[in-house]
Amino acid sequence: MKASFSTDIAYNVVRSRRKTADIVVERDGRIFVRVPPSISQEHIAEMIKAKELWIYKTLAEWRDLNETRVLRDYRNGEGFLYLGRSYRLSLVSGQEEALLLKNGRFCLRRDLVDRGEIAAAQAAFREYYIARGSERISQRLAYYAPKVGFDPNSFDVRELGHRWASFSSKGHLAFHWKCMLAPQKIIDYIVVHELCHFHYRDHTDAFWNEVDKVLPDFQERKAWLRKHGAGLDL
Ligand SMILES: [Zn+2]
Repeated sequence: MKASFSTDIAYNVVRSRRKTADIVVERDGRIFVRVPPSISQEHIAEMIKAKELWIYKTLAEWRDLNETRVLRDYRNGEGFLYLGRSYRLSLVSGQEEALLLKNGRFCLRRDLVDRGEIAAAQAAFREYYIARGSERISQRLAYYAPKVGFDPNSFDVRELGHRWASFSSKGHLAFHWKCMLAPQKIIDYIVVHELCHFHYRDHTDAFWNEVDKVLPDFQERKAWLRKHGAGLDL
């Protein structure tokens, strides 16, 4: 941890072989500055200073979101999202699986909640989204890969911090489990977006043109995600 003298903001510097610098505010409030190897501490401090307002705003947004998260109760009747629809929660006994979607309800094993640990209930949901997401995203990748002209080597669904998905230089795709809370149309947009990064790694007009070829209404889907993305959470 490197706290700078010119600002109250404490941040971690991550040096790697990259050309540009950026600042990431994680949802737990940690701040990472990712920079090329040669950049000086003074330069980093200036970057932080220049982005100070944005950083404070983002920290405040995460704080608000984290507060609503803590307020969520794992009680009977509480709504949880899956593929864009809200399903009510039923706490059940005598179920082998931690969580099932059955007869239009999320059935969560009661003992997970009785322990009083929200973390256990959250983990059950996360695992559910990861398992379902691995199947569904695999299908969607198979469907869109020929349309985009790129078949990824591998993919997984996991916790990805502030990103919906990522594309590695080795052709591995990763998707955030939270994608599974979004409607199918939005998942498809995220899938096509990542596949198109095979052609262009950045977000230039040429890149969007590739997305447009496969999903002519991608703008609508992108706008939906921007507007509702923060609400897709446990
Ligand atoms: Zn992208």
